[in-house]
Amino acid sequence: MTVITRFPPSPTGMMHIGNARTALFNYLYARHMGGKFVIRIEDTDRARHSDEAVQVILDSLDWLGLDYDNTPESQFANKQRHIDVAHEMLAKGNAYKCYCTPEELQEMRDTMKEEGRIVAYNGKWRDKPESEAPADAPFVVRMKAPQDGHTVVSDEVQGDVKVENKQLDDMIILRSDGTPTYMLAVVVDDHDMGITHVMRGDDHLNNTFRQNVIYDLLGWDKPRYAHLPLIHGPSGGKLSKRHGSVSVEEFKNEGYLPETVNNYLLRLGWSHGDDEIISMQEAIKLFDFDGINKSAAKFDYAKLESLNAHYMVEADNDRLVDLVTPFIKQKFNIDLDEPKKKTLLAGMNGLKERAKTLVQLADEARFYIADITSYDEKAKKHLDQYLVFMLKGLKDKFKVLDNFNHDVIEAACRALAEEQAEGKLGKVMMPLRAALTGTDKSPSLFEVAEVLGKEEVIKRLDAAIEFIEK
Ligand code: GLU
Repeated sequence: MTVITRFPPSPTGMMHIGNARTALFNYLYARHMGGKFVIRIEDTDRARHSDEAVQVILDSLDWLGLDYDNTPESQFANKQRHIDVAHEMLAKGNAYKCYCTPEELQEMRDTMKEEGRIVAYNGKWRDKPESEAPADAPFVVRMKAPQDGHTVVSDEVQGDVKVENKQLDDMIILRSDGTPTYMLAVVVDDHDMGITHVMRGDDHLNNTFRQNVIYDLLGWDKPRYAHLPLIHGPSGGKLSKRHGSVSVEEFKNEGYLPETVNNYLLRLGWSHGDDEIISMQEAIKLFDFDGINKSAAKFDYAKLESLNAHYMVEADNDRLVDLVTPFIKQKFNIDLDEPKKKTLLAGMNGLKERAKTLVQLADEARFYIADITSYDEKAKKHLDQYLVFMLKGLKDKFKVLDNFNHDVIEAACRALAEEQAEGKLGKVMMPLRAALTGTDKSPSLFEVAEVLGKEEVIKRLDAAIEFIEK
């Protein structure tokens, strides 16, 4: 049997991180088993449908690198097939037409509530002959659910979950306007797409019982199920906007790397011993149902950030230059030309260790690619008139250097510290840092000076001297 898993998002306009985790788990299981991972867009809500909302989801999958094995299918496009199946069920006596009016149904529910019974359709039309049907009256089609016994879902995560069949009423499969309901559409599509494993949020567990009734009535094989506990926010409750960012797009815009998001989502609901850092390749090798946690996981923004710091250091420097480019454009409106990109690449080792996100990397990188037009308050403390001689001294020493590299720059700085500051290197470095970066924090200054180059360093020293003397 080839394993086929699916991801069937409803296009809401964003890819919630919970949906992304569902997609990831389905992807990993399919890849682990050498099977297929397919996409179906559940787009039957036409009033709210838009192509952009679908694109947001496909873009998020693309960004995460969760490649799929089909052309995304549209549930709406399968509508006639759903209707045909409902009629097949009618013809076989597994479904029936119900002519109850909305008022009648309301009355039914009110009475049941009053009597303290489970509110459910009472089966009024279940066994009535067609001859009793009111002429030309609208009707819905209901499935004929079993009334006795119980239904068990053997879930890969939740174990055996049992429900009494009397709790499952004869659910509607075709509405009075002839359109299929979601519950029917899901079953037909999953069957037609050959889905073998359904992994989804445990908020769908109740639907599973009803969907299984449809499978049984149709005589179709049911998929295996794995219902995933939800993701909670740091303060409890389902993760939502009030906790902070919740969509893949938001995390992308905040400068997280896709490998971070994948690794974080994997660990948020699945574990392999105490492993925290798990690459996609390893995850494909290791992913199984046994590792899925049985209780809700709490989203931890700080942990996500520190994981991103790890992946930033791991990332290839060329790739980081490309990734940070749009952030630099957005924040500082600077277009990176080739020389600037080269500068950034040369300084990347020092920069990436200091940034937890691409947004922070853009901030850290600024002094490499823009002129220093101002000094922040902390930098100004080191651009004191009593220290101007340090900058002048550095300039004199640097001017005569031929090979302007890390080691000779360091030697020059140390020599100046010996001559002017009783060997205290900090006394030389702080004004130098302020002059070169406009701030009081930066990667190793010897590296920074080498990357900037002699001409630029001297230009910045001159500017700082002028600033002090003015
Ligand atoms: N469209 C449903 C959702 O986005 C998925 C239902 C399912 O996985 O069966 O929640």
